[in-house]
Amino acid sequence: MALSDELPGEQYSRLVWNSLWSEFTAQAPGRMQRREGATECPFCADLTSGRVGPQTQAWIRPNDFPAFTPPTGECSILIYSREHDRRFSDLAVDETLRVIELWRRVYDDLASRYACVMTWETSGAEIGQTQRHPHGQTYAISAIPELLQREMEAVLQAERKGQPCPFCVSLAQEDDGPRCVFSGQWWVAFVPPWARYPYQTQVIPRRHFSAMSGLALDGETGEDGEAARELAALLPRLIQAYDQVMHGPMPYMLALHQLADERYHFHIELLPVGRAPGKLKLAASSEMAWGFWLNDSLPEVKAAELRALLRDDSVRKQGESQ
Ligand SMILES: [Zn+2]
Ligand SMILES: [Zn+2]
Repeated sequence: MALSDELPGEQYSRLVWNSLWSEFTAQAPGRMQRREGATECPFCADLTSGRVGPQTQAWIRPNDFPAFTPPTGECSILIYSREHDRRFSDLAVDETLRVIELWRRVYDDLASRYACVMTWETSGAEIGQTQRHPHGQTYAISAIPELLQREMEAVLQAERKGQPCPFCVSLAQEDDGPRCVFSGQWWVAFVPPWARYPYQTQVIPRRHFSAMSGLALDGETGEDGEAARELAALLPRLIQAYDQVMHGPMPYMLALHQLADERYHFHIELLPVGRAPGKLKLAASSEMAWGFWLNDSLPEVKAAELRALLRDDSVRKQGESQ
């Protein structure tokens, strides 16, 4: 029998458990066919084809090249704006609120069926962004990825010792400290002491909730959207500050860490890959071979740079004039 007879088709995908490293790896050969450098933007095509109505400003669409299919997982694309030539950091507060609503909607839709809903944005061709149109992605999968497992284990370990949530503890420690970037009414942002990337920033809500379902949107009860609004004002400004230190668009990932377990503490990881103008921090040394990270800077120094830029109104003005 020919080998090809035994192999599953290209739409096949699977999760594979690595028992040596205690982590899942995914294999999805169909992804090899995805468009790169295609001339027509598939997200603008949603508008021209009428798939999306004239009033819709931000929307969720299926991923045309899904890494997973049910019951292993589901993949969606979150379109941030009708306008092709913008970045997340160009969005005004109300427009960013629409993006936050997408994050919440996609979580509410998928969390009951999957162990983990990973929502993120990859910005910058240097780190693999293939479509320019401002967008994020969601992979809902039937396994919990390794980093979240490890964070959850820290939460459980604290619980076993009778200690409070380690995220609540870390937030209290970092708030207004030397690594703090932003201290708001609802959110605290800081460069974590163990930052892998020079400008890596964690954005953590003061109120303990585990996933996007715990964040009230405008017109809802409780905080009535105030926390969402503060977040919507903060995130684009933070990325504008990244652009300032890079003297150009900072390649970054923005990732929502969330779990449907009340003991977990929701947070946003901003992973900017630039370390200085024109220079990237590539995880291609001891990071790639051993998972051992080396940061070429001190979090306190980089946090002070970001803090100064966030306080400086010219960052905002530059963003608004684009
Ligand atoms: Zn487009
Ligand atoms: Zn907490």
